[in-house]
Amino acid sequence: MKNVSYKTCFLTIIPLLLSVSFCKLYAQQEANKTSYYCKWCGNKYSSVSSLTSGSCSKNPNGKKHELYEGAEKKQYYCKWCGNKYSSISSLTAGSCSRNPNGKRHEPYEGSEKSQYTCKYCGNKYSSISSLTAGSCSKSPTKRHHPAL
Ligand SMILES: [Zn+2]
Ligand SMILES: [Zn+2]
Ligand SMILES: [Zn+2]
Repeated sequence: MKNVSYKTCFLTIIPLLLSVSFCKLYAQQEANKTSYYCKWCGNKYSSVSSLTSGSCSKNPNGKKHELYEGAEKKQYYCKWCGNKYSSISSLTAGSCSRNPNGKRHEPYEGSEKSQYTCKYCGNKYSSISSLTAGSCSKSPTKRHHPAL
């Protein structure tokens, strides 16, 4: 009888310990990956709600920060001209001669690719800068626009 109760105890304790350590691991990973950036100014926040509650001086459409929905990258490309920057804040600090809507560079939210496709006409280019250099008859802005 002694042996049985020991076994029972053992079997209850182990899954409990495991689930606790998995929870800790998961919480740690969550904490590591949660940085949210404003796509207009590059400010970094720990939650989307804190990001969207603040006002943004660089947002041309409104007053609030807006979430950058792409992944964290080593290099960020402007979706209008293809210039690359090491951070969203340095990208959005400069003015962009090819941006038809505003004056600043805007981060491309897709992943890095070997070929970029125009989402309006389907033409393919090896870089965002070569894609955005030409004019596009099917695009409302008259420029090719990289698909995500
Ligand atoms: Zn902002
Ligand atoms: Zn640009
Ligand atoms: Zn096009």
